[in-house]
Amino acid sequence: MAFTLPDLPYAFDALEPAIDARTMEIHHDKHHQTYVDNLNAALAKHPECESLSLTELVTGLQRLPEDIRTAVRNNAGGHYNHSLFWKMMTPAAQSRLGGAIEQAITERFGSFDAFKQEFTDAAKSRFGSGWAWLVWADGKLQVVSTANQDNPLMDGQIPLLGLDVWEHAYYLKYQNKRPDYIAAFFSVVNWDYVNELFAQAQQ
Ligand code: MN
Repeated sequence: MAFTLPDLPYAFDALEPAIDARTMEIHHDKHHQTYVDNLNAALAKHPECESLSLTELVTGLQRLPEDIRTAVRNNAGGHYNHSLFWKMMTPAAQSRLGGAIEQAITERFGSFDAFKQEFTDAAKSRFGSGWAWLVWADGKLQVVSTANQDNPLMDGQIPLLGLDVWEHAYYLKYQNKRPDYIAAFFSVVNWDYVNELFAQAQQ
């Protein structure tokens, strides 16, 4: 069964002014759609792989036929990452830090601001295209970054919060000012969803 583009859980302009409507429209309708299309095209070459779930694809790259492994890595990764990313954001009025994740972040990093700084540094220093992440790994919260469309799951880490730092995610509004985009992202984080992922990760 072919993969399909999930709907955005809000309108294109719902994250304004942090993320502008035009960027959201292109990012979702064009970039994410392309990952889905390219993933389906790769899998069509090996019908025996078409029954694998997205998670099985992302975590089982070594078991895939060599001729589609890179395409699946990039495009299953892209589909997985973006599907998460849309849900990890919410209109600013609904962005409320709280619950178990707030307590765990404070315990692990010393303060929320200290976590924010570490996450920001990871997002700023990812050279070229990639993602910054808060993950659950080895029984603790950690900040990591990945290149291209790689995902923490590929390293056995469970993603809780991710930020796309490809230029296509911010260039229309922020141009070269990636740090301003990172700062704005924190106003639209869906902490309720991060708390859900955190609860699942600890099961
Ligand atoms: Mn993207």
